[in-house]
Amino acid sequence: MGEAPAFFVDELQKGYGNGFDTKSKGGETAILMGNRTYVIGGACEESPLSIGVQIFDQSTGEWIYPTVLGTKPKPCKGLSAVLLSEDRILITKNGSTPDDFAWFLEVDTQYVRQQKKILGTDVVAWSKGVRGYAEKPVVISGPSGVGKGTLISMLMKEYPSMFGFSVSHTTRAPRAMEKDGVHYHFIERSAMEKEIEDGKFLEFASVHGNLYGTSVEAVEVVADDGKRCILDIDVQGARSVRASSLEAIFIFVCPPSMEELEKRLRARGTETEEQVRKRLRNAKAEIEQGQSSGIFDHMLYNDNLEECYKSLKNLLGLDGTVTAPPKSSPKVVDLPMDHSVAKIDHRIIINSKTPELGKASTNIRIVLDVSSLKGGAPGRTRGLDIYTMDSFLDGLAGINH
Ligand code: ADP
Ligand code: 5GP
Repeated sequence: MGEAPAFFVDELQKGYGNGFDTKSKGGETAILMGNRTYVIGGACEESPLSIGVQIFDQSTGEWIYPTVLGTKPKPCKGLSAVLLSEDRILITKNGSTPDDFAWFLEVDTQYVRQQKKILGTDVVAWSKGVRGYAEKPVVISGPSGVGKGTLISMLMKEYPSMFGFSVSHTTRAPRAMEKDGVHYHFIERSAMEKEIEDGKFLEFASVHGNLYGTSVEAVEVVADDGKRCILDIDVQGARSVRASSLEAIFIFVCPPSMEELEKRLRARGTETEEQVRKRLRNAKAEIEQGQSSGIFDHMLYNDNLEECYKSLKNLLGLDGTVTAPPKSSPKVVDLPMDHSVAKIDHRIIINSKTPELGKASTNIRIVLDVSSLKGGAPGRTRGLDIYTMDSFLDGLAGINH
C-alpha cells in the first residue's frame, strides 16, 4: 500500500469542515465529499503510467485504495479538481494537449455503484472528456456465413469517412487473409481473460469455442475519429451491449434458408469441416434468438446481396439524400498552465496565466459547459463544450439584444 501524502494527512486531520472543498499542492489535489476526501494526482501505485487516486475516510481515519476502472489519464505536472455533482469530479490537467485536458473521475455514478457490488471493493472510474457527440453505433448480428462481413465491407467502401469498424479481440487463429489489428486483435486466452477482469471489455462471449469481445477502446477510437461505429458481434454480445449504457441500433441478418447458409459457409472455405458443422449447429439457435429475443430493432434478409445492401442503407438513412456537411467544430482554445477552476451552475470557469517569452503573462479564461454530458466511464464522457470567455460573453450579449 502506498504512503499517504504527508501534507494531506496534516490538512485532513485538521479537517476541512462539512460540504465540499478542494486543496492542491505539488502534483496532487484533494476534494472533500461528505466524510471522504479524494486525493488525486501523482502516479498510481499499481499502474505508474496513470494518475493515482486515494481516499481518506474521516469517520474511520483510514486511507482507502480503491479499484480504479476505466480509461486512465497519464500523470501530469499538476491538476485541478472541481466537483460537478455528488457523483463525479472534473479534473483538468496542467499544460496538456487539447485532447488530454479534461477528465472525469466517477465516484458514485450508476456504473460505479454497480461495479462496487460486483467487485466487493471501493471503486472509482475514469473517463476522458471529449467534445462533440458520436452517432449511435450499429450492431450487426447473424449466423456465421450469412454475409455480415460482406455487407459491412460494402458500407465501409462506399462511405469510408462515415463508418469505422470496431476491431474485436478474439482467441481464434487468424485466417489466411486476416491482419492483426485490422480484422481482429488476435490474443491468447489468458491475456484476454486478464483484460476482461480489468474491465476493459464492453462485452465478450464464447462463440463456436473461442472467446470474442469488444473492448471499450475499440468503440471509442472510432467515435474519436468522428465516425459511426459498426460492431459485428454474435447474439450474446448484442444482448450484453443492449444491457450496457451504449445506445446503439441493433440489426439481425437472416439467411434465406439453412441450405443456402451452409452453401455460403462452405464456399467461403475458411473453416475446417468440424468448424463448419459447429457453426451450422449454432446457427439454428442464433436465428431463433435473433428473431424472438426482442434485442433487435431491424431484421434483414440476405438473399440477393444488392437488395439486402440497399435495405441496410435505407435503415441507416443512406437512401441517396444528400447528407448534411459536418458541423463546424468550435474554436480550439489555448490550454491553461497552472490554472484554477470555479464552478458556476453548469459552467466551469478556468483561469490561467501563460507566460509569453519577452512579454507580460497573458490571462486565459476558458468556459467549459458541462450541461449536456453523455456516456462516461469506462470510456469517454462526450458533449463537453469548450469556449473562450470572450466568445461566451459575446454569446450572452447576443441573447440580451
Ligand atoms: P459472415 O461475415 O456473416 O460470416 P460473410 O460476409 O463472410 O459472412 O459471407 C459468407 C460467404 O457468403 C462469403 O463468401 C460471401 O461472399 C458470400 N455471400 C454473402 N452474401 C451473399 C449473398 N447474398 N448471396 C450469395 N453469397 C453471399
Ligand atoms: P468469425 O470467427 O467468423 O470471424 O466470427 C464468429 C462469430 O463471432 C460471428 O458471429 C461474429 O459476429 C462473432 N463476433 C466477432 N467479434 C465479436 C465480438 O467482439 N463479440 C462477440 N460477442 N461476438 C463477436
